[in-house]
Amino acid sequence: MANNIQTALKKYFGYETFKPGQEAIIDSILDGRDILGIMPTGGGKSVCYQIPALLLPGMSLVISPLIALMKDQVDALNDLGIPAAFINSGMGAGEIRACLSEARQGRYKLLYVAPERLGSENFTNLLRNLPVALIAIDEAHCVSQWGHDFRPSYVDIAPWIAELPERPVVAAFTATATLRVRDDIAKMLELSAPDIYVTGFKRENLHLSAAKGVDKTNFISSYVKSHPEQAGIIYAATRKEVDALYEHLQSRGYSVGRYHAGLDKEERNQNQEDFLYDEIRVIVATNAFGLGIDKSNVRYVIHHNMPRHLEAYYQEAGRAGRDDEHADCILLYAPGDVQTQKYFIENSELSEERKNGEYNKLQSMIDYCHTTHCLQQYILNYFGEEDASDNCGNCANCSQEFDVKDVTIEAQKIFSCMKRMNEQYGMTLVASVLKGSKGKRIQELRFNELSTFGIMKEMTIPAIVELMHMLEADDYIYNTGGQYPVVRLSPKAGPVLRSQARVLVRMPHVPEPVAAESGIFELLRSLRKEIAQREGMPPYVIFHDSTLKEMSSRLPRDEYEMLTITGVGENKLKKYGKQFLEVIRDYLRK
Ligand code: ADP
Repeated sequence: MANNIQTALKKYFGYETFKPGQEAIIDSILDGRDILGIMPTGGGKSVCYQIPALLLPGMSLVISPLIALMKDQVDALNDLGIPAAFINSGMGAGEIRACLSEARQGRYKLLYVAPERLGSENFTNLLRNLPVALIAIDEAHCVSQWGHDFRPSYVDIAPWIAELPERPVVAAFTATATLRVRDDIAKMLELSAPDIYVTGFKRENLHLSAAKGVDKTNFISSYVKSHPEQAGIIYAATRKEVDALYEHLQSRGYSVGRYHAGLDKEERNQNQEDFLYDEIRVIVATNAFGLGIDKSNVRYVIHHNMPRHLEAYYQEAGRAGRDDEHADCILLYAPGDVQTQKYFIENSELSEERKNGEYNKLQSMIDYCHTTHCLQQYILNYFGEEDASDNCGNCANCSQEFDVKDVTIEAQKIFSCMKRMNEQYGMTLVASVLKGSKGKRIQELRFNELSTFGIMKEMTIPAIVELMHMLEADDYIYNTGGQYPVVRLSPKAGPVLRSQARVLVRMPHVPEPVAAESGIFELLRSLRKEIAQREGMPPYVIFHDSTLKEMSSRLPRDEYEMLTITGVGENKLKKYGKQFLEVIRDYLRK
């Protein structure tokens, strides 16, 4: 059997080796055992049920909550030469009937449905007469009230399966690994003595960093500028912040779109599509964006705000670098983010017990932003991988990507000015006084008469504000929050004012842009885009960036060499091989 699995991986998917956990999971399923697979986003869950579906007789059913993903997955499968289809609520009755009739005739190896579909009489009847070998349940944590995406329809899956004349193998998959959710999934889906696999939360290609006290807008703007050509997602907490950032980036001429629930459906879908199809490079979005997006060439994910827990963070950040190429995951932290998340928790409908649980998760998230130890280890420990190394050598903390700077004098000036203003004003006004600006309000309040007026005139106001953010992140000063936040001194500021303590801050570096792409890569990329447009599919469904990169460096000259490129299976070779080979030959000739 091992041979068959390996052959299918190469023949259909064009991959030589399995990702961690895949082979063992596939073995279990083919041995007829239920499994619970816990793998991070990008870990390669789909292959774990697609290969068994190919090798088992008849059709397999995939239950997935994500309509957008279904279409992409089915397109991708068909493109690999694997017959598959989906049924969802966006389809008309006639379309559904046609699809069911094809299924009855044994046309598909995989059929994707949303859990709500199980309530349909027609559908259930079909399955009574058409035995399925395997039911794969994606995003299985949706069955748990303790997860973060509870869907009531998931609770009906187990009773529905129990009614089938023959019980198929059930394989459940999720990226959520807390023990409580894990136990809940096994229980609620009535998995029968499942083999449980927790694998590969480590994503070595992701470069993790958490920056405190930076001017977020400037940081993002300069990052986008220094990474031209690269696709990135920028997550912000609220629609308002998404709009503001989007407008800022757009006004600077970057290729950017936005996504949040306040836009009408058409605009949202169009923006999503433009991003998937490489028509725009950057998308600024709330967390409404991304479920079901498996664009593989996202080179960075920047969080403008800290999410509520690491489950959400790692899921969102994990959308970077699914092609295993280098990608940056940058979290920009400001203490105000904590206030926002506390507000959300406090005003939620959750029971007191669950609110407490949420506060604990929030604390772990805050600690992630402040730890000076390995960020990867922190995440792996959180997800239950206890033997993770304490030095990944790759995250910002391990590679020491910051300069340590002594800012004692500047801090003394700021604290002293705040004191003289009676700690009653916001950062910008304090910074304006330090700068010595001649604004009307400053004159009215007679702050121009303070001894601290203009004592930092060599710095710009935004730079002073940035420094104040850093002092805030390190607990020297704090923000009262609310609509008109005021900055106040914390106890830690006292010894600094009395010259008994020094203030050292870490100034983060903006990650360097990766080397410019080679000429041939660009040629292959534009061919891919041309084909994608013609076939109405996102470019990464044709070939991943990593596949084009390998072609660019190895320059295959014939079909045989082409087949050795990772990501080129037999069907892809037949469909696209010739055109890509032609471009490479042309390039070599010149
Ligand atoms: P998940 O559903 O776990 O987030 P996917 O199933 O979408 O992840 O897989 C993530 C990416 O990894 C996809 O682009 C997929 O083609 C790729 N992939 C899956 N298995 C392998 C493998 N064995 N070798 C290389 N790439 C793989």
